[in-house]
Amino acid sequence: MTEFPDLKPDCSSCAALCCVVFAFDQSESFAIDKEAGEVCPNLSKSGQCNVFDQRSELGFKGCITYTCHGAGQRVTQELFQGRSWRDDEALTHRMGEALSVLRRVHEHLAILDAASSLPLSDDHLLGLSHLTSELLPADGWSEESLAAFPIDEMVSRVSTFLKSLRSYV
Ligand code: SF4
Repeated sequence: MTEFPDLKPDCSSCAALCCVVFAFDQSESFAIDKEAGEVCPNLSKSGQCNVFDQRSELGFKGCITYTCHGAGQRVTQELFQGRSWRDDEALTHRMGEALSVLRRVHEHLAILDAASSLPLSDDHLLGLSHLTSELLPADGWSEESLAAFPIDEMVSRVSTFLKSLRSYV
């Protein structure tokens, strides 16, 4: 059976992807506008957030509520062998593309993992197993397989599956 990845963020093994690859719109959650691929001005050269303890007061609540579900470290270490957009600017877009899909993959693995604790029927267990195995390909993920993965369709299938579990809750 394919090993389940860590679904908890490990920022120490990530290249601060969430502080770079995504865009922010100035709002209640973010104090500034930031383009996708632009380095947040609060990110230090060593990869630490300079305002980590004051994010809420300074208007960066969105950084506190965001989670990559462990996808950031996996993109950095597994897909890019520990390299960073700091070493090669061209990686920013590629890492961002990979993270945007793998984050949703991990989010839905976490949902299915939570559902697995319900007293499911054999049919439901089988359905859960099929969905989980599609999110955990035996050979792991690559940039190419993530780019080709029909994530929107998978999200819709997981949603339909979860609706079928209503009688358990
Ligand atoms: S405020 Fe800090 S945590 Fe939020 S994106 Fe900027 S550097 Fe990252």
